[in-house]
Amino acid sequence: MQKVIIIGSGCAGLTAAIYAARADLQPLVLDGYEPGGQLALTTMVENFPGFPDGILGPEFVEQARMQAQRFGTEFRSGVVTAADLSRRPFQIVAGKETFESESLIIAAGASARMLGIESERQLLGHGVSTCATCDGYFFRDREIIVVGGGDTAMEEATFLTKFAKRVTIVHRRSEFRATKIMLDRARANEKIVFMTPYVIEEVHNVEKSSVEAVAVRNVETNTVVTVVAEGVFVAIGHDPNTKIFKGQLEMDNEGYIVTHDGPKTSVEGVFAAGDVQDHRYRQAVTAAGSGCMAAIDAERFLEHHKV
Ligand code: NAP
Repeated sequence: MQKVIIIGSGCAGLTAAIYAARADLQPLVLDGYEPGGQLALTTMVENFPGFPDGILGPEFVEQARMQAQRFGTEFRSGVVTAADLSRRPFQIVAGKETFESESLIIAAGASARMLGIESERQLLGHGVSTCATCDGYFFRDREIIVVGGGDTAMEEATFLTKFAKRVTIVHRRSEFRATKIMLDRARANEKIVFMTPYVIEEVHNVEKSSVEAVAVRNVETNTVVTVVAEGVFVAIGHDPNTKIFKGQLEMDNEGYIVTHDGPKTSVEGVFAAGDVQDHRYRQAVTAAGSGCMAAIDAERFLEHHKV
């Protein structure tokens, strides 16, 4: 029987682990299928306070993990496949094991939707990114492609014009899902050009581990053209990793866990932190902050519900 189980080992989960471990709760962290979360997929992190020269995402995650371990956090790899939150202790199934816990912190994150092309996967963190706020700075005076036709794509493209020479929005339809105001703002920006209806066929150059050009196909004519670009930002939405909690926790229409009074969910003793409950800020520092809040509230909950 655990006092607290933390699902997810990104910035939110690791911060929750550090706080819970230092409160002597001996937390168990279930890693999930993307250990380290979104930060493990990025290169330089330059906006987390305390690192004036920046820090590599994977290194940051590793340091936080060691910090959590130092105070007694136990880590288990494996994906959580089922959970029963209907009564305490909560039951969590990961692989062949079933764990029981008096409290639960869900920090399973949200995964950026990807196009599913092999070269996109191989160049992720090497010119392919899913976060303009994180990586835009590295593309000063460069040609950039943003993929998507929703608000995120418009927002990311507009933001990237601060740095880029030119931003090309590649979208698979000629109609846009983005709200009019966001679309109009992007259209009015002279650094942004639109390519519709196009899909990405290939990102070059995997051999050189950097983005040099992108092959795009017109979905109506099937004509393939090559666009020179040094960065590709995939902005086709995020999916919170909340499927196993559907019907057990209050969620919004997009599947994000609804929290109240900080990190509290609709089930007493279950807390949510990071991108699993936040589609607005999605930053390492905000995820860390909410992980801290979840651990403090879990500790208070356990104090009031001593078994
Ligand atoms: P979204 O609205 O779901 O849009 C995703 C876009 O990506 C769509 O244009 C979609 O094309 C395209 N797409 C999806 N899968 C694709 C694939 N496999 N290949 C190529 N294109 C693909 O997601 P979002 O833009 O991230 O926005 C999510 C929510 O957050 C929305 O409610 C949005 O309004 C909100 N948001 C608000 C703001 C703001 O107000 N400041 C900023 C960002 C996001 P189709 O259109 O063809 O399906």
